[in-house]
Amino acid sequence: MSEPQTQSFQAEVRQLLDIVIHSLYTDKEVFVRELISNASDSLEKLRLKQLTENSVYQGDLDLEISITTDEEAGTITFADHGIGMTREELDQNLGTIARSGSKEFLEALKEKGDANASVIGQFGVGFYSAFMAAEKVEVYTHSWDESAPSLKWESDGQSGYTVTEIEEDEKRGCRIVVHLKEDSKDFAQNTNLKGIIDRYSRFVSFPLILNGERVNTVEAIWLKSKNDISEEEYEEFYQYCAHAADKPRHTLHFSTDAPININALLFSPDENHERFGFGQMKAGVSLYCRKVLIDSEPQGLLPEWLRFLRGVVDSEDLPLNISRESMQDSALVKKLNSLLTKRFIKHLTRQAKSEPEQYQEFFDRFGRFLKEGIATAFDHHESLAGLLRFESSMTEEGKKTSLDEYLTRAKEEQDSIYYLVGVNRKAMEDGPYLEAFQKRGMEVIFFTDGMDDYIMETLREYKGKKLVSADRAEIEMDDLPDEQAKLSEEEGKELIEWLGKTLGDKVDKVELGKRLVSHPVVALTPQDAPSGQMRAMMEAMGENAPEMKARLEFNPGHELVAKLNALRSENEEVAAQVANQLADNALLAAGLVKNPAGIVAGMNQLLGSLMK
Ligand code: ADP
Ligand code: MG
Repeated sequence: MSEPQTQSFQAEVRQLLDIVIHSLYTDKEVFVRELISNASDSLEKLRLKQLTENSVYQGDLDLEISITTDEEAGTITFADHGIGMTREELDQNLGTIARSGSKEFLEALKEKGDANASVIGQFGVGFYSAFMAAEKVEVYTHSWDESAPSLKWESDGQSGYTVTEIEEDEKRGCRIVVHLKEDSKDFAQNTNLKGIIDRYSRFVSFPLILNGERVNTVEAIWLKSKNDISEEEYEEFYQYCAHAADKPRHTLHFSTDAPININALLFSPDENHERFGFGQMKAGVSLYCRKVLIDSEPQGLLPEWLRFLRGVVDSEDLPLNISRESMQDSALVKKLNSLLTKRFIKHLTRQAKSEPEQYQEFFDRFGRFLKEGIATAFDHHESLAGLLRFESSMTEEGKKTSLDEYLTRAKEEQDSIYYLVGVNRKAMEDGPYLEAFQKRGMEVIFFTDGMDDYIMETLREYKGKKLVSADRAEIEMDDLPDEQAKLSEEEGKELIEWLGKTLGDKVDKVELGKRLVSHPVVALTPQDAPSGQMRAMMEAMGENAPEMKARLEFNPGHELVAKLNALRSENEEVAAQVANQLADNALLAAGLVKNPAGIVAGMNQLLGSLMK
């Protein structure tokens, strides 16, 4: 028998405990849910062990969760006959935060405080929540592995914990004794506790026995018919699956028989916590076969971008003893994946039609995921693209439109959909690219997300129309009838020749253009090169964007260009400085300047010449 060992909690755990105990969670009662959920997880893991291991310690114990209270002493005991823990597992699971997302979660929580307390369960803070109500927690355990000892883990949630090997044989699993704080003793009251269990844990799929009385009815709500389920039941089930307190935004309940048998109940949450800087969500749709849980985090059941979905998928076609590893690339799971994805996209597409405002709200919060879907998977490109929403030169500020609506407004002969990517709407409205399109009554989409550029490049087309960035050199434009060139054709030709020589290899080509109205010059990028936005993104990620030269289009109708032409014969040196400066400005506006300091130097030189 070894001596008791006292260990300090990992620094992150201490931090977490501090937050959990002092600042968060007005709903202390959720610790009941967390401990029951751990017991249930552990029983599920045991069920899987029994399929793969030859022998499991005390293999015939009932798979149920028993909760007993002692009001007098102020204790609640949660006991399960699940997989239990070894010494190492106690250290690993109850002494550290193993999950990488948890650290980020901590940081984010510290900034945001109570407002986001409801997400705590999703990040694996689970077990430690017991210390909101407890002054001491004891965990008695024996692992499923026969050779492991019986152990007792004990802590007051302050700085550390003690693990002792105990002499009396523990039954397999965990027995967690929560010693309630003075102000939390009420939780040990039978009716009180029963109410809490009913609220949070009625869908647990193992028998829950409170002081000898069975308190949950194990029911697979997803196998019931829609008509027999009330909205409240859906809501409660969602809250149970998602460990959440909000209402689901979407509820998608359906069954199919061909090509595969599926009973699915999927929810999308109200809020997307990723957009507040919380770590990546974990997949949250569990896979069942005839009510038996196969995997609560099945790899590959849904594409990565649908990680915000919660719920259950039950398929009779799954072999019960399928291993997690082989499941990942099984043809069946791939089929399930494709079918579920299609169904959810269809659900969204329908909502976008019938409840455009609700859909818009969903898109504002979860649109990022749809874009991720476009970026990472090819199978659903067109349907996902149809779900995108954005402002455009033809929408009011703040109002959004879709690609389909764009197409209804497009001119018959227009074979492309034009877009710009910029920091905000104003910058794109004021920039040099929009006006040529506006003059010709063509709509330009305004994208403001750095990712959008990449998304458009990936999509390439929508319903047979090419998606083209409005800063591309290849776009052909009709003449505008009322265009007033300030230079004659001959003057224009000479100026271009001179500009070509003067600018040298700063640019690929110089031309007189028809696009511009109020700007003197614009830089255009070739279709097959990364756009300015994309280049900026690549640089930010430490990649080198390929060398590329832009084409400059000078505006023959612009005052400045006419004056530059005149200056050429009066003072060629200053004219060259001006030409370079105009070119630099255009390249800068296009996001094609690597070294802005060079521009400042040129500008100073020019100022010097002008003040001679
Ligand atoms: P999570 O459940 O999200 O993993 P928790 O903080 O609730 O996080 O639990 C931490 C870990 O402690 C669990 O992942 C599990 O390995 C272990 N654990 C907790 N309770 C039990 C239990 N009753 N039986 C076996 N292991 C448990
Ligand atoms: Mg847990």
